[in-house]
Amino acid sequence: MEYEWIAPCHFGLEAVCKKEILDLGYEIVQVEDGRVTFRGGPEAACRANLFLRTAERVLLKVGAFRAITFDELFEKTKALPWEEWIPRDGKFWVAKATSIKSTLFSASDIQSIMKKAIVDRMKTHYHVTWFSETGASYPLRAFFLKDVVTIGIDTTGDSLHKRGYRKLVSKAPITETLAAALILLTPWKGDRIFVDPFCGSGTFPIEAAMMAAHIAPGMNRSFLAEGWDNLLSKKMWYEAADEAASLVIEPEETDIQGYDIDGDMVKAARENAREAGVDHLIHFQQRPVQALSHPKKYGFLFMNPPYGERLEEKAALPELYREIGERLAALPSWSAYMITSYEDAEKYVGRKADKNRKIYNGMMKSYFYQFLGPKPPRRKYEE
Ligand code: SAH
Repeated sequence: MEYEWIAPCHFGLEAVCKKEILDLGYEIVQVEDGRVTFRGGPEAACRANLFLRTAERVLLKVGAFRAITFDELFEKTKALPWEEWIPRDGKFWVAKATSIKSTLFSASDIQSIMKKAIVDRMKTHYHVTWFSETGASYPLRAFFLKDVVTIGIDTTGDSLHKRGYRKLVSKAPITETLAAALILLTPWKGDRIFVDPFCGSGTFPIEAAMMAAHIAPGMNRSFLAEGWDNLLSKKMWYEAADEAASLVIEPEETDIQGYDIDGDMVKAARENAREAGVDHLIHFQQRPVQALSHPKKYGFLFMNPPYGERLEEKAALPELYREIGERLAALPSWSAYMITSYEDAEKYVGRKADKNRKIYNGMMKSYFYQFLGPKPPRRKYEE
């Protein structure tokens, strides 16, 4: 049995998520803003939840249709074969409804009307008048875009950026899925030098080290659909977990470093790396960006510097970004990648980025600046 699965991901980074899904061996059905739809058997849910570094969750797509009145929403929801997905004792509710450029937009109305429609459908099918809902959970998500609603059942639970390793966070952490997507957007590979001079809770270096060691991001956590026994089986989850375990390697050559001016942050980063099982692959140390240097060539800098969350910090930004510019100049063979929402970043770094992308970090408009260094001589890094 083949299904369609939806992987919501960061806006603007769909191509990275799409590539990850292709690498897992599934066929892409559609790529839209903020989500990738793909086709695969039931085991795809287990593997996608476990292996995708850039998706926020994995939904089983149950249908999509146009609806501009609540009557239409009710009838078309009721027409879907809910009994194929939700067992008699299943707990089901519309956990989230979003609406963009659509006539129907009231989340609470959409939620209650869809629930009524599903109950109606299932009453007829199961010949009961009341549902105990004591079994596994089947939370639904409905997103309206230009009057077309796409409906999915969530298989993930807590969103996938919660890998289970980040117990301690900085003031402004980057999400794990975004950090992973940004790394995957670059040519960095596990045997190349990786330095984050503003590591905070360690998200960038930890995500990089997990990639270097081929550690699946979901190995440390569980997923909602592990409780399903109608569409997925325990065996599928065990097989996916075995596959993940068999892929883990002890990388031979890594040079991954995380620095921060704040000693408490460095401790937190170390602790998080330990939770992720990669503390032996990362060198963390308290150090200001001003002291950044490295004896080797062709390294990669990943940076998420302060952007002036608080007014008094804003005054220090020109000087800080000037320092960043000086460090870049001192590492001419390196490539540097920086995500920040500071509008004057390039001005004070003193160099125009070779590439720049607008990216939303949560609700905050940010930029991903890419300052590209020369390619290393071929011989050493030949594939
Ligand atoms: N990406 C990180 C968050 C970075 S926030 C995460 O996911 O947790 C910016 C970090 O820069 C803060 O932790 C702050 O302590 C650090 N910082 C501020 N000024 C610095 C400087 N001059 N040198 C090095 N680190 C600095």
